Amino acid sequence: MPELPEVEVTRRRIEPLLVGRRIREVHTTRPSYLFITPPAKLRRSLSGRTVDWLARRGKYLVAQLDDGSRLIVHLGMTGQLFSEAAVSPRLMSSTARSSLTPEAQRRFRPDLHTHLRICFEDGGPQVLLRDVRKFGKLIWLGAGEPHPRLDRLGIDALEISGAQLFAAGRKRKVAIKNLLLDQSVLAGMGNIYADEALFLTGVRPTRAAGRLTRIECERLAQTIRKVLERSIETGGSSIRDYVTPDGSDGAYQFERWVYARTGEPCGRCGHAIRRIVLGQRSTHYCPSCQK
Ligand SMILES: [Zn+2]
Repeated sequence: MPELPEVEVTRRRIEPLLVGRRIREVHTTRPSYLFITPPAKLRRSLSGRTVDWLARRGKYLVAQLDDGSRLIVHLGMTGQLFSEAAVSPRLMSSTARSSLTPEAQRRFRPDLHTHLRICFEDGGPQVLLRDVRKFGKLIWLGAGEPHPRLDRLGIDALEISGAQLFAAGRKRKVAIKNLLLDQSVLAGMGNIYADEALFLTGVRPTRAAGRLTRIECERLAQTIRKVLERSIETGGSSIRDYVTPDGSDGAYQFERWVYARTGEPCGRCGHAIRRIVLGQRSTHYCPSCQK
């Protein structure tokens, strides 16, 4: 599932391919639960517009258009926003892949999973949204129209400070891991990075948030930022279907200490990594290093 770093990597790479280009027309697939805004309305609203800037709010991408309206994109589980020139063979089914020569694989052709295709007046590379499982979301908002989910988001996880984390945890009995995943506290924080940051800080995920000291919150906030920044640098975690917009794979998955390493020896002490379920999410930690 794309998390903050993957969404931020997508934003940085797709921004130059989107911003400042006038949209000629937009192609969509038929109405489905991916389209919070009906596809016909989406096509109508985007045609002739220019994207002024592309921002990220938590795990949402927000394209600000020149008439004050906004296009909100959530990548869901398998969403991929990329340019027409993407070269990853991961974007194709295995049958399609095996029947194509390596040269033919280098150019992606829109398929039935390509739910949004943006064509520009300059005739240059199109921007596409592909989503196999359709858990992503596409929303168009008119100028000034609010979005309850976006408006409720907390501090961006890339910018969290120790003092903010400490304040959010005061008198709370909720497990620190669940507090970190609460999007109204920490926007964009996800499961992998929460597990990794807690391991690197030596804090057990089940500990009550209110029991963390000011110093621990300081170290935890710093570690969260570091883990996320490191993941952005390496292009995100290419677990399952995530590919970066230029088609290359992320590398962060090779740097995990605890996430999805159940039973493997801890890289610091050798104790077996344990997995529990916390707030309905898989949680991984070292029972010896994390207190
Ligand atoms: Zn350990």
